[in-house]
Amino acid sequence: MKIQAIRGMQDLLPRQQAIFSHITTTVSEVLNSYGYEKIGLPVLESTALFKRAVGEATDIVEKEMYTFDDRNGESLTLRPEGTAGCVRMAQQHGLTYNQVQRFWYAGPMFRHERPQKGRYRQFEQIGAECFGMAGPDIDAELLFMTARIWQTLGLQADVTLELNTLGNSASRSAFKLALVDYLTKFKDELDEDSRRRLTTNPLRILDSKVEKTQELLISGPSFQAYIDPESMADFEQLRRLLDARQVDYRVNPAIVRGLDYYNKTVFEWVTDTLGAQNTVCAGGRYDGLVEQLGGKPTTGIGFAMGLDRVALMLDGRYESRAVADIYVASMGEVARHQAMLLAESIRDILPGLRVMVHCTEGKFKAQLKKADASNATIALVIGDDEVAQGEIGLKHLRGDSQQINVAANDIIEHLNKVFF
Ligand code: ATP
Ligand code: MG
Repeated sequence: MKIQAIRGMQDLLPRQQAIFSHITTTVSEVLNSYGYEKIGLPVLESTALFKRAVGEATDIVEKEMYTFDDRNGESLTLRPEGTAGCVRMAQQHGLTYNQVQRFWYAGPMFRHERPQKGRYRQFEQIGAECFGMAGPDIDAELLFMTARIWQTLGLQADVTLELNTLGNSASRSAFKLALVDYLTKFKDELDEDSRRRLTTNPLRILDSKVEKTQELLISGPSFQAYIDPESMADFEQLRRLLDARQVDYRVNPAIVRGLDYYNKTVFEWVTDTLGAQNTVCAGGRYDGLVEQLGGKPTTGIGFAMGLDRVALMLDGRYESRAVADIYVASMGEVARHQAMLLAESIRDILPGLRVMVHCTEGKFKAQLKKADASNATIALVIGDDEVAQGEIGLKHLRGDSQQINVAANDIIEHLNKVFF
């Protein structure tokens, strides 16, 4: 049997990888333009980190983590998300206490879920995390920044912003109690997941997809009524900033986010172009997390964007770029030797150009077919005649296809004229 990739772990073929690179470059330029600094984080962390940060009763910790004992018997987990690791790093290196930080990171995350379009077991995220700013102006900055990312990628018409506030931890707790009180009366009518969450993670019941459960919730306590005045004022201030900048949004009280650590502002950028996997970027405020992980109280807010889903959105409209500008074809051993050295001197003198050498024996016709397929602008041709004359053949591959021969010493000057 042939060995295949692990289920849910995608290979990125050149076109797909090019789309990912395009997204990463675009996003990093926008993040840099707001003064965010890139960090690198390990893919493996202590299992305890995610249990504590993400929460024992979340989908991620309950059933999605890739956890194993390493050779020393220590429990390790392939990171399912980036916030926990970023907070761990910031704390470990003393970067949060009494400081303001804006970080971003990119890389693979791992979750054992059911693979389908836009949902994989290894997937790529770009995330940003900010520390030491109580908001709501930094909340607005993150939303301005994500809006600018969609605009720069040309996706602004395909996404909408959904926004909510969860209040402080006291208002969350009070609402939780009221919710459990109310739903316990209808325990038998709840779906199985929600019944279980009644004791483990009641807020998650709010984003249940089961219709009957949603119906029950309509007559239940309203989260809104429990939000503390400070959170409400912050939320209004955030909305004023979004309105002033004309960033459209919808307030959606059902957004509670799956992770335990959120408070106050939470948001999701959603799209209706991807079917069920409709969230492309999600985040919120996590003022209690640093302390929860053993640090001094420090406010935090961040988001993570799912690159695989953004790539699916761009797929239809992304135009692959040519692989090479110049394709070097040759015939015979002496010519091939010259072709290799010619390509190197072009790369030395005109480093902006991409030069591809044919590198195997083949009829000129077949070589020029490859040159055409590379989408190069020019083919350089070295055959017996060219070797004998000290010349190089130059063929424009787009439009006029007559070959002209140029003295080998003049070829750089010629290419300079063609390309620059
Ligand atoms: P979902 O509700 O789709 O499961 P989530 O709430 O679990 O998403 P987050 O933990 O907030 O997702 O991660 C942020 C973003 O990362 C998501 O909005 C999504 O774009 C992307 N993402 C999450 N899980 C996956 C996955 N398994 N495959 C691809 N992208 C993912
Ligand atoms: Mg999920």
